[in-house]
Amino acid sequence: MAFESLTNRLSKALKNITGKGKLTEANMNEMLREVRMSLLEADVNYRVVKDFIEHVKIKAMGVEVMSSLNPGQMVVKIVHDEIVELLGTQEQGLNYKTAGITTVMMVGLQGTGKTTAAAKIANVIRKKQSRKPLLVACDLIRPAAVEQLKTLGASIDVEVFSLGIETPALTTAKKALEYAQEQGYDTVIFDTAGRLHIDEELMQELADIKAAVHPDDILLTVDAMTGQDIVNVAQSFHDQLAVTGLVLTKLDGDARGGGVLSVRAITQVPVKFVGLGEKIDDLDIFYPERMADRILG
Ligand code: GDP
Repeated sequence: MAFESLTNRLSKALKNITGKGKLTEANMNEMLREVRMSLLEADVNYRVVKDFIEHVKIKAMGVEVMSSLNPGQMVVKIVHDEIVELLGTQEQGLNYKTAGITTVMMVGLQGTGKTTAAAKIANVIRKKQSRKPLLVACDLIRPAAVEQLKTLGASIDVEVFSLGIETPALTTAKKALEYAQEQGYDTVIFDTAGRLHIDEELMQELADIKAAVHPDDILLTVDAMTGQDIVNVAQSFHDQLAVTGLVLTKLDGDARGGGVLSVRAITQVPVKFVGLGEKIDDLDIFYPERMADRILG
């Protein structure tokens, strides 16, 4: 599971302070140094770590006046709350329209789990929210992405709209919306093309689809295995497309996880879903509080 070493290091750092009856500047500084090292080692972006430690420090200074917990426990609670803050405080679902078809555009680099996430989301909103989703195959770049989406769609009983790989993605997207209208679908999820790296052509194609379908959500898939680099990738997508939410994928792997923690803090965009495995049911709505509990062990 991602975050394992972060969890181990943080719990060691915090154990030292919970045992202390009294907080001194020295043991507080020692603990903050350990927390800082734990986060950096887990690949959390240094700017994010700096702000994090600053916030904990400020809150911890007032700690001795609060008496329900011992000072050490109080500091642990502050670190916990700060992690929740970092993750986004509240769970957030899709931005459904109150009337008309809700459109969701999946974007991200190739291999991050975009196609899989599109199907997983369709599955979860159909089963748990009684939505009627249509999946649209607009990833014409990766060989087999269309077939992959069709296979996934069939396995979850969700229709996949495709005009084949010869038709431009933009045309497919427009036609899909008309089709959804005719057939009474209420949510349309567009799987778009990724690349191994961001390039202008990719961004232009995505911008064109965005202009045509006016997405209520643009979800960026962020692969936990990517590490530090993910912050720059996410920033580029966000600058050019104004992303509205994140899907953190492959949290079941042994990634250090810091990259995905940083992405939310830097883009200020909520995490909406987390991918926890390759199977179609391995997707969860993102609960910051639960994730913070898991990270702290
Ligand atoms: P795309 O190129 O972004 O559309 O990526 P795919 O959806 O094809 O996913 C790439 C690979 O990652 C596939 O082998 C998926 O099964 C796998 N994958 C996707 N999400 C997860 C996840 O949450 N956990 C794990 N372990 N694998 C995942």
